[in-house]
Amino acid sequence: MSPFRVLVLNSGSSSVKYQLLDMRDRSRLAVGLVERIGEQTSRITHTVPATGETREQNGPIADHETALKTVAEELDRDGLGLDSPDLAAIGHRVVHGGMFFTEPTLIDDAVITEIERLVPVAPLHNPANLTGIRTAMALRPDLPQVAVFDTAFHTTMPESAARYAIDARIADRYRVRRYGFHGTSHAYVSRATAALLGKRPEDVNVIVLHLGNGASASAVRGGRCVDTSMGLTPLEGLVMGTRSGDLDPAVIFHLQRVGGMSMDEVDTLLNKTSGLFGLCGDNDMREILRRIDEGDEEARLAFDIYIHRLRKYIGAYYAVLGRVDAVVFTAGVGENAAPVRQAAIAGLEGLGLAVDGDLNAVRSDEPRLVSPASARVAVAVVPTDEEWEIATQTYALIGGEGADEKRKGS
Ligand code: ADP
Repeated sequence: MSPFRVLVLNSGSSSVKYQLLDMRDRSRLAVGLVERIGEQTSRITHTVPATGETREQNGPIADHETALKTVAEELDRDGLGLDSPDLAAIGHRVVHGGMFFTEPTLIDDAVITEIERLVPVAPLHNPANLTGIRTAMALRPDLPQVAVFDTAFHTTMPESAARYAIDARIADRYRVRRYGFHGTSHAYVSRATAALLGKRPEDVNVIVLHLGNGASASAVRGGRCVDTSMGLTPLEGLVMGTRSGDLDPAVIFHLQRVGGMSMDEVDTLLNKTSGLFGLCGDNDMREILRRIDEGDEEARLAFDIYIHRLRKYIGAYYAVLGRVDAVVFTAGVGENAAPVRQAAIAGLEGLGLAVDGDLNAVRSDEPRLVSPASARVAVAVVPTDEEWEIATQTYALIGGEGADEKRKGS
């Protein structure tokens, strides 16, 4: 039998998330996380979903190489090691692929060089992704390793949506344009929404709202992204857990000139201490909803600002698409926070949008509609699955058995 397992690696600056998937039946053979790499208090948590067993190891893990070796040892204990003949490939999440990478790509030296060239536009993410790639390639140089880019799905955006209205020569020189992120999720969720509607992706227009700690919206026409809310970096767009999203760029000059803040301080402010957290001290939507229930005004205002921005994007993408078949909520907040879905859609009956209170209150891990049967436009909740999407794209690229059917059906 040809190899049927794919290992998905998502390497952050101090963490590695991983999943080992069986491509024959979509089952997860192992799921884990190595966190606080480089500190004394590193930890690996390894779960085998089939048995529910979870193993945890605490103690210093010096670097990504040690982290991946520890992951390999854990997989080995279950007979799922990196040297198993059943392992078909490793799929790596890479945050920034610029305009160059429009598809999942088999990694070789030239690909690594190009990902490296993109470090200036993704200084936090691409170096960590590269470390994961280099380490995995050293461990299994003979195995196909595939890069799946967060930006790839958005490379179909027309220039009118992708360019900023600044001096075109400056923009070109410094590659300043809107790339968009969370693309793997937007791709998966828009396709799964078409399946939920019983239609082909080519035949539906969808507004995808990926609301996690980071958050982004996208307008997808016939399976192709035509606009998305994140830009050069993941800072633009919606109000997020700790990021401001859209603001007048002059706020930055003002904080420097009048507030005496340095460039790095403003960078930290807008990325790390703004958004919901900056507005009310909490970035977890569960906590914010709890505080609102207790009558907390600060949490209420943070929620209202979050919802206002979200509604602006729904309206904007409605206009971009012209005809909309579905608005779909996904990721931690989108999948779980019924009040966010309710408030985002309230009063939009004129656009054919409505939420059914009872359907919206249902908790489920399954894709589902939350709009009344009579609504002109579907409102849906579709749990995202970026690991599965990375695994299927990886498997399809290396010509894995039945990969295309699996991809269409997901
Ligand atoms: P990311 O991948 O961006 O870190 P997730 O998609 O996992 O984020 O989303 C995490 C966020 O989801 C949490 O910060 C929290 O705000 C929100 N969340 C998770 N569960 C719930 C819930 N039951 N109700 C409301 N919000 C939730």
